[in-house]
Amino acid sequence: MRIAIGGFCHETNFFSYVTVSCEEMTASTREGTALIAGCTGAHSYLGGFIDEAKVQDVEVIGTYYMSRKPSGPCDPKGVAYSHQRLPQLLWEAYREEPYDGIALFMHGGGAAEGFPDPEGTILEEIRKKLGYDIPIGVALDLHGNITERMVKNCNLLMGCKHYPHIDEYDEGRIMFRLLVEKIRGGYPTYQKLIQLPWLMVPAEGVTTAGAAHDVQQLCIAREAEDPDLLQASFFQGFPYSDVPDCCVSVITVAKTQESADRQASEIAHYAWSRREDFTVPKYSAEKAVDIALSMGEGPILINESSDNPGSGTPGDGTYLLRELLRRDIPSAYGFIYDPEVANQAAEAGVGATISCRLGGKTDKLHGEPIEIKNALVRCVSDGSFVQQNRMGLGNKNCLGTTVCLVVGNVEIAVASFRTQTFDEGPFVTAGIVWRNKRLLALKSAQHFKGWWADKVNGIVACDSPGVGSADLTTFRFKLANTDYYPLKDAHWEG
Ligand SMILES: [Zn+2]
Repeated sequence: MRIAIGGFCHETNFFSYVTVSCEEMTASTREGTALIAGCTGAHSYLGGFIDEAKVQDVEVIGTYYMSRKPSGPCDPKGVAYSHQRLPQLLWEAYREEPYDGIALFMHGGGAAEGFPDPEGTILEEIRKKLGYDIPIGVALDLHGNITERMVKNCNLLMGCKHYPHIDEYDEGRIMFRLLVEKIRGGYPTYQKLIQLPWLMVPAEGVTTAGAAHDVQQLCIAREAEDPDLLQASFFQGFPYSDVPDCCVSVITVAKTQESADRQASEIAHYAWSRREDFTVPKYSAEKAVDIALSMGEGPILINESSDNPGSGTPGDGTYLLRELLRRDIPSAYGFIYDPEVANQAAEAGVGATISCRLGGKTDKLHGEPIEIKNALVRCVSDGSFVQQNRMGLGNKNCLGTTVCLVVGNVEIAVASFRTQTFDEGPFVTAGIVWRNKRLLALKSAQHFKGWWADKVNGIVACDSPGVGSADLTTFRFKLANTDYYPLKDAHWEG
């Protein structure tokens, strides 16, 4: 058996000023054998496809894969190119030698000007070129915005189940195995999508406990109980993409339509009945620090979820860091994005002192730059480390030039690449010993918990102003449905 693999991965925060050019999209693209070589051994969806193919004795054919870190919108020309290129390479590979199925990873949270449903449009283009007979399986991120067009143009659509997404690799393997079994068994699969009138922010979605955990467990239990049910996925959606379908949804894949319909309906009703339990407190930086200091012995960790580059934000927001400096708390901040300051400190060298304006340079939404006088440069590094979080385990990361600035009792890691903090990597590469600190601070909504949860004595989320804020009333949506819960008291009966 032969299966073609590829995908399109971008989570778009339409409110973010961190945009992506065509050249940056091209630099984030792999085609053909380079795709296979680049993804082999990776702890990712595509790494899972490739490993499962070996187990199933299936040959994989690399086609096209564009994957960018979350950010603001991509250049529409680049998105248009992806729309054309992925179907084209799938078609060319098929014409050269027919294959038996297509396995794709698409984030599902993508959007660009004129492209409110990039993933659905790509799938539709693939169907136009290759027809409706070839089985197509699609794995998506739990923050995917799922549309009827996506469902109509594939046979097996499923998401990862955990947030933090520690199961990306496993879900890649499961999706690939189910696709192979469908092809070998020759049976049809039936899907049911239910969109709920509900906008859920990432800060509300952690699945290690609480309402999202309970819905996740229901999906897992139903898959175990019902022999006809192949997959049940609860997608939290990504409201910051500001598209018409950026809502919570449930999708099931089953061997009978009856099973798909019934299970989707019951899971959706349960999730909807629990919607108020997802609400999280929205603490300012000052309040979050107050609470953290009241929690006893350190280290207590504050995550600034409203400036989480994992949701496409700039990563140079200054609200929380300013508060730590104002109170001069023995703490470490890992990290703030500011390549200008990182380079200034690297040029000055270890042991030197510098004065600078730190952070707050991308836009005017995440706090003013902080005026820093006579900060000690204590460490300079290339920002390299290996990821220890189960999400992306073993991946080689590089934050570019990274430094540690010491200002009073606060140690600040300053780096040159926008990403969220998953584990201790950014602290360690900046030479910061975090274990003896009263407070730790970082930028992430939930993924950091995949490593930090059992290593600190408490966690407090900070929702300072920003384009990743949990307060949806602060956004001016254009395309998202603002009649949805929690903006309005939406009604849904199924
Ligand atoms: Zn996600």
